[in-house]
Amino acid sequence: MKTKLCLLYGGKSAEHEVSLLTAKAVIQALDLTKYDIDPVYISAEGEWRKGPKLEGPVEHVSALQFDSTQAISATEGLQSTSLAAQQSTSGQYDIIFPLLHGPNGEDGTVQGMLEVLNLPYVGNGVLASSAGMDKIIMKNLFMQAGLPQVSYVSFIRSHWDQDRAEAYKKVEDEIGYPCFIKPANLGSSVGISKCTTREELEAGFIEAFQYDRKIIVEQGVKAREIEVGVLGNDHPETSVPGEIVAKKDFYDYKAKYVDGDSVMIIPAELPGGVTEQLQKMAKIAFQSLDCAGLVRADFFLTADGEIYINEVNTMPGFTPYSMFPLLWENSGVDYPALIERLIELGIKRHEEKQ
Ligand code: ATP
Ligand code: MG
Ligand code: MG
Ligand code: MG
Repeated sequence: MKTKLCLLYGGKSAEHEVSLLTAKAVIQALDLTKYDIDPVYISAEGEWRKGPKLEGPVEHVSALQFDSTQAISATEGLQSTSLAAQQSTSGQYDIIFPLLHGPNGEDGTVQGMLEVLNLPYVGNGVLASSAGMDKIIMKNLFMQAGLPQVSYVSFIRSHWDQDRAEAYKKVEDEIGYPCFIKPANLGSSVGISKCTTREELEAGFIEAFQYDRKIIVEQGVKAREIEVGVLGNDHPETSVPGEIVAKKDFYDYKAKYVDGDSVMIIPAELPGGVTEQLQKMAKIAFQSLDCAGLVRADFFLTADGEIYINEVNTMPGFTPYSMFPLLWENSGVDYPALIERLIELGIKRHEEKQ
């Protein structure tokens, strides 16, 4: 019998377009003799639309966006309508694959809905997704796990608004320059600024607070950026490390998706022992958030050999040209096999919960 799979993509998020590219690639990689695929598109406005069962590969991303007149409720979208499902006792999908990045998808909200509906899904659960999306909570958990990090402070918009000068003073006293200001809950470098002066600091606060009511300010380090893939549930495995060489001051949104001239070096060329250290830390990071399925752990490696964890991404970029799949390809798991592994892990996790 075929596995009934519902692919959830798009999403009400600044990372909507990235998700469409991923969905196309995943559909092309899935074996249609093994899977029955129902596409469910979430528009940038948050409307859910269900498309016809996929009978073949999709050539263009536009084919994955459906007519707005067919908007449905989220729970309707998650009901299987295939003939096989109607004949089975449950009428449910075997697996939901949420290919969603950023808020309203990677942050535990969709995962919570899937839990309530008792549907198996690929990837991280509610807690790991929400903790991984909030950089402040994530860093607090990393600290408790003993992972080295750069120093950081956090602010809430209304507090900052009461006494802005006090907030800037706190950053200058406790963090200094250069520093990075980030919205607490986002991804793809959206809303992030590097600041080297008080003027830039003030502008950076205003920018980041446009995206979130909470922000984090971190000490800026001059370092190589190394990423490690983690795959599994209770006994996760790690990939070889890969390096991002951004051609700009830092790996911002444009460098990620517009300019495209950043380079990935896989495996990263690292001094002896560093690979093992990174892999060990990636596993600790995975477990400190109680992750499941997958995570991409991002690190900084300084010239004098210090390693700091920057963050984890609970639904990392997932096109065949993204870091996470490439890390696994270089570790012996190609793209179609990676997708199958994730589906199996999602089903297994659901069974173990019961
Ligand atoms: P994504 O989820 O796409 O990986 P993000 O929005 O969660 O990105 P970060 O990974 O935290 O953002 O930061 C984006 C980039 O900014 C990093 O890849 C790095 O180039 C730079 N950067 C972030 N924090 C620091 C820091 N403390 N010191 C030096 N560079 C930093
Ligand atoms: Mg991130
Ligand atoms: Mg991200
Ligand atoms: Mg990152």
